[in-house]
Amino acid sequence: MKSDPDSSAPFGHGFADIIDSYSWDDTIASVAGATDGDVRRVLAKARRNVKPLTPDEFAVLISEAADPYLEDMAALSRHFTQERFGKTISLYIPMYVSNACTNKCVYCGFNHDNPFTRTTLTMSQIEDECKAIRKLGPFENLLIVAGEYPSLCGIDYLEQVLHTVRPYFHNLTIEVQPMRSADYYRLTRSGLNGVVCFQETYHREAYRKYHPRGMKSHFDWRLNGFDRMGEAGVHKIGMGALLGLEDWRGDAVMLARHLRYLQRKYWRSRYSVNFPRMRPSESGFQPKSIISDRELARLTFAFRLFDHDVDISFSTREAPEYRDSIMTLGVTSMSAGSRTEPGGYCSTPEALEQFEVSDERTPREVESSIRANGYDPVWKDWDSVFDTF
Ligand code: SF4
Repeated sequence: MKSDPDSSAPFGHGFADIIDSYSWDDTIASVAGATDGDVRRVLAKARRNVKPLTPDEFAVLISEAADPYLEDMAALSRHFTQERFGKTISLYIPMYVSNACTNKCVYCGFNHDNPFTRTTLTMSQIEDECKAIRKLGPFENLLIVAGEYPSLCGIDYLEQVLHTVRPYFHNLTIEVQPMRSADYYRLTRSGLNGVVCFQETYHREAYRKYHPRGMKSHFDWRLNGFDRMGEAGVHKIGMGALLGLEDWRGDAVMLARHLRYLQRKYWRSRYSVNFPRMRPSESGFQPKSIISDRELARLTFAFRLFDHDVDISFSTREAPEYRDSIMTLGVTSMSAGSRTEPGGYCSTPEALEQFEVSDERTPREVESSIRANGYDPVWKDWDSVFDTF
């Protein structure tokens, strides 16, 4: 078994040590059992805005009982978002540098068992991608994405990638395999600003079923990865669950608990959340639970009422009409112009996409839409001068 050399426990310490104190079934039951009176009480507390909502109160707001109050929740969510972020939407773009992966996530087209030619970009190809992206718009926020293949895309490769893209972009975030604290720290010294990782589901038993092989099959290693990011001083930590694997309500409440835990422990870091809904992939996997548009809106508003400071991000997985309708109601960042295959920006792609993009508008079209909604697109909201801790 691979172990974390930073720790005496096989997969380190962190939220994995306490998650089992929360019962998944009780969590689902508490959402299902919320009443109209509970919703009124929690909304009154949210309006008073004296104390933050607790994860249990967040659970009330994502319940069916809260549905009649959706417009009230949207108005409050907009109010708190504008108070904290102004009328702005920050724009970012993903760059897939590799689709090689040693894991066997049953829902993903990059699954190790899926027979297709894998691509890992060279530094020269990455530089070409940078130039192609810059032609699409003045992006400064880059999300570097790779499948999990440490011997191909390990710490040395990622460090080289950061050095290669740094002249083109100010704010660099990675979405790759969970790493050791020391490795996260090393990458922050090489210009890394943020790390995004999806726990996929907080349901421990179901997680095993969806992740049967590879390093990702170790639930605790992945879950404690967020602690390792905090310990390493990663400036911005991105979190989320893949909505559809299990009951989305359970994952949403666990995500809220996880966020509170991290905020208390690693208070210097900033946090973002993302609510990706499952989309078709080469694996042909069908989601177990479907979250409707209205439920996703409820979840988004509830999360904003739960936490006024967290960055709420919507990717191009969502359709243009949906992104346009929700962008002024709690969302603070969006991707645009995304290609989800390595090398997708500078050539006619032949590599496999991780998932189908739903919003295929150009970055300039997304920018126009943001302006049409009375908001300002922010291409750059970060400067390395702030990276002082
Ligand atoms: S979800 Fe990520 S880790 Fe799993 S198979 Fe796909 S690329 Fe690999």
